[in-house]
Amino acid sequence: MSLVGLPEAAVREAKDRVRAAIQCAQFEFPQRRITVNLAPADLPKDGGRFDLPIALGILAASGQIPLDALGGCEFIGELGLTGELRAIDGVLPAALAAADAGRRLVVPAGNGAEAALASRAEASTARTLLEVCAMLQGRKTLPAAVALPVRTATGPDLAEVRGQAQARRALEIAAAGAHHLLMVGPPGCGKTLLASRLPGLLPAASEEEALESAAIASVSGRGLDPARWRERPYRAPHHTASPVALVGGGAQPRPGEISLAHHGVLFLDELPEWSRQALEVLREPLESGTVTVSRAARSAEFPARFQLVAAMNPCPCGWAGDSSGRCRCSSDAIARYRGRLSGPLLDRIDLHLDVPRLPSAQLRPDAPAGESSSQVQARVVAARARQIARSGMPNAQLGPAALAAHCRLAEADQALLERAVDALQLTARSMHRILRVARTIADLAGAEAIASAHLAEAIGYRRVEFQGDSRAA
Ligand SMILES: [Zn+2]
Repeated sequence: MSLVGLPEAAVREAKDRVRAAIQCAQFEFPQRRITVNLAPADLPKDGGRFDLPIALGILAASGQIPLDALGGCEFIGELGLTGELRAIDGVLPAALAAADAGRRLVVPAGNGAEAALASRAEASTARTLLEVCAMLQGRKTLPAAVALPVRTATGPDLAEVRGQAQARRALEIAAAGAHHLLMVGPPGCGKTLLASRLPGLLPAASEEEALESAAIASVSGRGLDPARWRERPYRAPHHTASPVALVGGGAQPRPGEISLAHHGVLFLDELPEWSRQALEVLREPLESGTVTVSRAARSAEFPARFQLVAAMNPCPCGWAGDSSGRCRCSSDAIARYRGRLSGPLLDRIDLHLDVPRLPSAQLRPDAPAGESSSQVQARVVAARARQIARSGMPNAQLGPAALAAHCRLAEADQALLERAVDALQLTARSMHRILRVARTIADLAGAEAIASAHLAEAIGYRRVEFQGDSRAA
């Protein structure tokens, strides 16, 4: 028996599993030369998913199951030596593709809940090769794949964040306009706490968005929890992660963290500690929402429309600018530290925010709690709906033409913006960034036009400066 069509090691081993499973199911393994052709030949095949279709092909070709029963059906699943069907990765995208092709899909019982997420698909489940054959021989009906009840999200709540009024406000603006956000502050000021609350402030994912995120989790081999598929992803990789782990790649191109965060939030803590290479490859997806990974002759494009929340200390020791005066970093060391971040990367982050250490009185457990995530989310949803109605996209994605159309300023405000651009030595890109943020602030206020207060607040999120060795104010 030979396998052709770029089978990887796990697929080549299908020979042994298929032979054993067929014999265990009391069928006859044909005593003749068998060639299994996996088409298309130029696409590498990986994993155990081809076992079941290979076994059924052999049984049909040798007349042991009716060939015509296979019409209109697709099969996917790994076989154990005794013929039991094992769960595999990537069932959700397979179910969506089978539905689009108008065919029924049979999956291992362990993948039933995942296949059922594709509500337009007609999927049934089987526990063994024998059950599948009994169905094909018309002796048995297979149970339909059933979805698990969706667990209600119990993500971390904004109410648990004490104080930090300014940071909470910036987080709300980021959520409303889908703006990327950079937080600068000393260790322990709550940057991680704040970032992890962002998914709970975003508008609920649409079914199509949730399916796209779930499909990526499914093919990534990191597992998909079918009960939590409606939650927006939140990924927080450590800065020691390799560029491949971050953006995807490998011999068999696999999605990286930025794709696992598709339609969700990517939190990168200690931003200057990330390798320059890793940060530079972020630039393309930050702009386009997709990433192309290639290795040798193979390349793959993965969706990567994530919202970036980045965090960093103000200096190597973390305490520059703190009222305690404990920072002893030289201005050279601080400049080197900030210089690790390139201008083009920072230019793609709409909101820059200082997060100060809080006076301890505000951290007491009996300090008044802030608004809950659901209160803030209600305003975010309303502001986002205005954006979609006006331009069909969140403000963060507005191009120059849309900016000119929807972000007009009054004469005096235009002058204010130009003065700020001159004083802060901002680029044209930065000016666009201010306009997008001002538009979102106006949307949160329910205002048709951008007013002076909206613009002034937006300029405030540009005060953290990195390009020089000192912070412009
Ligand atoms: Zn320092």
